[in-house]
Amino acid sequence: MTAPSPFRDRPPAGHGARLTVDLAAIVANWRRLAAQAPQAECGAVVKADAYGCGLARVAPALARAGCRTFFVAHLSEGIAARQRLPEAVLYVLNGLPPGAGEAFRDHALRPVLGDADELAEWAALSEGRLPAALHVDTGMNRLGLSVPEALALAGDPVIGRAGIDLVMSHLVSAEVSADPVNARQAADFVRVRAAFPGLRASLANSSGTCLADATHHDLLRPGYALFGGNPEPGRPNPMRPVVRLDATILQLRHVAPGETCGYNARWRAPGPRRLATLSLGYADGYPRAASGAGHALVGGVPCPILGLISMDLIILDVTDAPDARRGGLATLIGDSLDIDAVGRAAGTIGYEILTGLGSRYVRDYVE
Ligand SMILES: *Cc1c(COP(=O)(O)O)cnc(C)c1O
Repeated sequence: MTAPSPFRDRPPAGHGARLTVDLAAIVANWRRLAAQAPQAECGAVVKADAYGCGLARVAPALARAGCRTFFVAHLSEGIAARQRLPEAVLYVLNGLPPGAGEAFRDHALRPVLGDADELAEWAALSEGRLPAALHVDTGMNRLGLSVPEALALAGDPVIGRAGIDLVMSHLVSAEVSADPVNARQAADFVRVRAAFPGLRASLANSSGTCLADATHHDLLRPGYALFGGNPEPGRPNPMRPVVRLDATILQLRHVAPGETCGYNARWRAPGPRRLATLSLGYADGYPRAASGAGHALVGGVPCPILGLISMDLIILDVTDAPDARRGGLATLIGDSLDIDAVGRAAGTIGYEILTGLGSRYVRDYVE
């Protein structure tokens, strides 16, 4: 384990950047969401290596805090999660691949079943002994039985034979609280769950947890907000930031007016400027699409990213940052630069920034 709280430490010389993941903040965010829906259980979605934050560290931290139910996307993620979570209930959102039943059984994983073939295949293996969830599609048209298909299964013995213990659906636009689709899906889901008395029900992702109680049901499935993402875009972010990305400044240089920098000379100095080159690039997961739009913080001063982001390097304009020095740090994520802001600069969402976090950094976990 690494030393706690070296937020301002340089990465060791062999690495270009340091990613700091605040496990205590993840736990605090989980508790905050749980408190928002006190009559429901709060699970945790830890697919995609816990949104890039590292399943091996994140999942046990949440389990120690009292989280009992986890969701991943794939069987392989479920197997990895089971190693870290011997006691937890583990659902696999992408369902049951053909012939994979034994692997689910052997690792005590619960598939989220979304069509008749999956149901039949799992029912034949389970015979009511191995639990699973039923996915009902109330609007995504992505995974799950349609509402009429689900209603037609009410009272069908296959539900018991497949060990269904949870019925779930997924919201289309939960982060847009005023979108009427939320109320429509919430109403459809109430009808669906009423057709399966005795089963638990789950509808809310992170943003759904912040919608009205109508979406809470028995089990919350937050992911993004646990990792510091804002579940209510346009409002102040109530979640604690979780990730911080600091890269080392390799070189400083002065350029004269008219000089360019980087590939294809996309930036031209409008006047005399001081540039800093950072040891981090798109191969580390910092999106190339943020070229010319993103910025980093040096000594708290926002410094624009200049020209095209390279594979391993980023050039900053540090003319206004007196603290910039060789071996010093620039913050790409952290302080006023939260993951939502970085996502916007790259024309994407904070989810993609998190899940794209690279593996070349030194990773520090703060408990
Ligand atoms: C990813 C996912 C979640 C978590 O969503 P967040 O927006 O990250 O909270 C919940 N449910 C399903 C079905 C998902 O695929």
